[in-house]
Parts: sequence; C-alpha cells; structure tokens
Amino acid sequence: MNRDNIKDILQSEGILPLSKYGQNFLCDEKIIQSIIDLCEINREDMVLEIGPGLGSLTFPLSLKTDHLGCVEIDKGLADHLRDTVTNATIFHQDFLKFERPENINIDVIVSNIPYYIMTDIMKKLFADYSDARKMVFMVEDDAIARIDCRPGSKQYGPLAILSSLYGGYRYEFKVPSTAFIPQPKTTSAVISFTRAATADYLTPEFVKFLNSCFSMRRKMLKKNLSGLASTDVICNALNQIGLNDSCRAEELQPGEFVRLFKVLC
Ligand code: SAM
Repeated sequence: MNRDNIKDILQSEGILPLSKYGQNFLCDEKIIQSIIDLCEINREDMVLEIGPGLGSLTFPLSLKTDHLGCVEIDKGLADHLRDTVTNATIFHQDFLKFERPENINIDVIVSNIPYYIMTDIMKKLFADYSDARKMVFMVEDDAIARIDCRPGSKQYGPLAILSSLYGGYRYEFKVPSTAFIPQPKTTSAVISFTRAATADYLTPEFVKFLNSCFSMRRKMLKKNLSGLASTDVICNALNQIGLNDSCRAEELQPGEFVRLFKVLC
C-alpha cells in the first residue's frame, strides 16, 4: 500500500487515525516488502499480526500464507479489514487481553507495534508465544536501548532479558518518519528475532518472576523476592548459583535468572 492508497481509504471510509492507539500507517512499499521478506514465511505457516491497521502488512502477508490471524483493538479498522482482506481471520480485541487460541502453534509473529505499549506487547509475546520461530517488529528507534542492553546499564530489565533469551536479535534497518501516515515524531527501526533453544525457558511464570526481580530496581534482589520465600531460602538459592546475598537484579546475566528461577520456583 502506498501513500495514495492510505489517503484514499482514510478519506473514503471517513477514518481519522487515533494517536491514543498509536495509529501510524505504513505507506512505503519498499519497506513493507522488506518486512515481509524478513518474516521468511512458508505457505503452511501460522502467522500472527498484531495491530493490522489498514492492512499495509496484512495484504502481502495474506498472499504468503493461508493461516493468518490479526488482532486489532480498533473496531472500525477491524471491520474494514474483514470487508477487504479475504485470506485472514481478524480478531477485534486488545492484544494485551487476547487469549492464545488452544492447540494452535504460531510460527511467525509480525507487528508494526503501537509504540505506546511496545514493552507490554513484547513481554506478552515472549511469555505466551515463545515457541514461534521468528518475530519481526517495527519499533521506535529510541526504544531499542531497552531491548539491546547489558547488565548494569540503566535500561537493563525484563524486556532485555526476555529478548536475549528468546534469541537471534538483529537490528535490521532504520525507517524514517516519512514512511508513515500520519508521520510519528521519532525515527523507527525494524528488528527481528530468530528463536534460540533458550526460548524454552520463557513462560508466563518466568516473566512474572522477572517482573518481581525488578519490582524495585534499587533494592537488593532478596528484598524484591521476599514474597516468594523466606530470606534464608532466597539467600541459599542465590549462593547455590554462585551469587552474593546482596546482589541487585540489574547485575545478573539473563542465564542467571533462569538458574535462580529453577532453584526457587
Ligand atoms: N500494521 C499497520 C501498519 O503497519 O500500517 C498499523 C500499525 S499502527 C503503528 C498500530 C496498530 O495497532 C493500529 O492499527 C492500532 O489501532 C493497533 N493497536 C493499538 N493498540 C492495540 C492493542 N492493544 N491491541 C491490538 N491492536 C492495537
């Protein structure tokens, strides 16, 4: 979909992009094609798109697979897509409340992520869909510091740990604000993840545990975990994996959280 297509739909359908839902629609066909290529979709793959909007990614995705599901919070956009995309199932729902359909394995996940809830969406994906083979996202360029960072840095937290454990992170390319209607205030970037074996450790329980570890960043880990077990038990668990009683969550490597979780939970 190009700039004229998007403008035509907005005008003919009387749709006003809503900033409260982070609606910036992609209108650069080269960038759209590059995102689709990165997804490496096979015909039989089950693909999930979050926030399909006016369908800039949805239409080309629907040509690649017969198993495409899309979750869109905006009823007007979901209705419009149901009328126009024939080869996809559109769910009108807030993705943060969306329950993963039972007995369905998702292979590939793609999203031009609504920036206002990027962290929550990615955390939910790593918790509930860590069996997916590939994830490709458009994110705010500035937000990458929260994904690609090391222990000890200010931004290091659950999102960076989950991203690292899911595996195969790549910064693909920058995207200028001119690639969207309306134009966002910041530059964007496309990133991808390819599942690694360590993604096996990602579960909703593990994500909950990580959130507890970082509930008060400046406190010692044993304090943040006091709801889980007695101080003695927590100190023993920390020592068992070679950590000091007084360590803080921001000092631990991703793999150390996995080991601590296995000992404690
Ligand atoms: N994929 C389209 C594109 O690339 O042009 C639209 C991307 S736009 C940045 C984000 C989309 O996510 C919007 O369609 C918005 O309505 C939708 N959205 C926002 N919050 C959502 C949520 N909690 N659950 C599902 N969709 C959401």
